[in-house]
Amino acid sequence: MLTLHNVGVRFGDKVAVAEVSLQLPEGEVLAVLGPSGCGKSTLLRAIAGLEELATGTVSVDGDDLAGVPTHRRGFALLFQDGQLFRHLDVAGNLAYPLRLRGASRGVIAERVEELLETVGLPGYGSRSVTTLSGGEQQRVALARALAAAPRLLLLDEPLSALDRALRERLAGDLRGILTGTGTTALLVTHDHDEAFTLADRMAVMFDGRIVQQGPTQQVWTHPADRQVAEFIGFSTFLKGAAAEVVRDAAHVESEDGTLALRRSALRVDDSGPLEGTVRAAAASSDAVRVELDLDGVGRVEGLAEQHATLRPGDRVRVRVDAAGMAEL
Ligand code: ADP
Ligand code: MG
Repeated sequence: MLTLHNVGVRFGDKVAVAEVSLQLPEGEVLAVLGPSGCGKSTLLRAIAGLEELATGTVSVDGDDLAGVPTHRRGFALLFQDGQLFRHLDVAGNLAYPLRLRGASRGVIAERVEELLETVGLPGYGSRSVTTLSGGEQQRVALARALAAAPRLLLLDEPLSALDRALRERLAGDLRGILTGTGTTALLVTHDHDEAFTLADRMAVMFDGRIVQQGPTQQVWTHPADRQVAEFIGFSTFLKGAAAEVVRDAAHVESEDGTLALRRSALRVDDSGPLEGTVRAAAASSDAVRVELDLDGVGRVEGLAEQHATLRPGDRVRVRVDAAGMAEL
């Protein structure tokens, strides 16, 4: 549906986006994941027609969009801070894009109620947007973006302004809403968990360039190199004999390359096959993060159960969860 071919954007001498080629099939969600400043928003704005292309083409169903102004592209944009009209109530915000398209009062009223149902806010139509929580405001902004049934929804870090618990819950809801409505969407984010939850396909961007793309699950389990692996949450990298000890404990075949481990790959567990010494332990919301000196392996990061009371110097046993491992 959406095809980017060799897209580049420059600001004076600065190359913000370079040689980006991506394809987004109808009904799928693609996440472009990358650190702050790598060019994600610029790429999104270029797709929307808000930045001029220095090179390449943006096309939809084979039609080049060069020269097609933003409001004629049939896309909707959703930003971090929903940008609701504060002088209108919730229904007024949702009605706005429908009124622009000349929908009748009856159609608008019906569609507004339907959209509020979709985003889990039935009956909120007459609420002033200033009385809504941050999460509710983002839901209304999403409903407004979906109101005109855009052929492509562009999302720029849509959940980044929300606190963590809400962000995790809303990410799951947003996934359900996008797939439930069959919306084709391109999301840009710096949060790898958000990309993982929301997207069918993932493209990793560094310094204006896409360095890896593929089905989300595949990128997640087969990062192309160490830089990508670190960015998507791998924190321990082992080679040679140290790596073999861990592979062996996980009952996976021996390999030559670098073994990458997420923190979740190494679990403090009395029945585990490995042994080590605790160097540091810090509680987080759902587990204890530990730094260990694993016998025969060296310094690694792992997890322990939330109730575990661990102190530096404690001897512990460790099991390996192969789901958190990748070979580079
Ligand atoms: P991201 O969204 O990944 O954080 P941006 O697309 O906002 O990154 O920015 C990419 C790079 O382009 C940054 O170095 C930024 O400073 C630069 N940039 C963005 N917009 C402009 C602009 N209008 N003029 C000049 N430089 C810009
Ligand atoms: Mg940005």
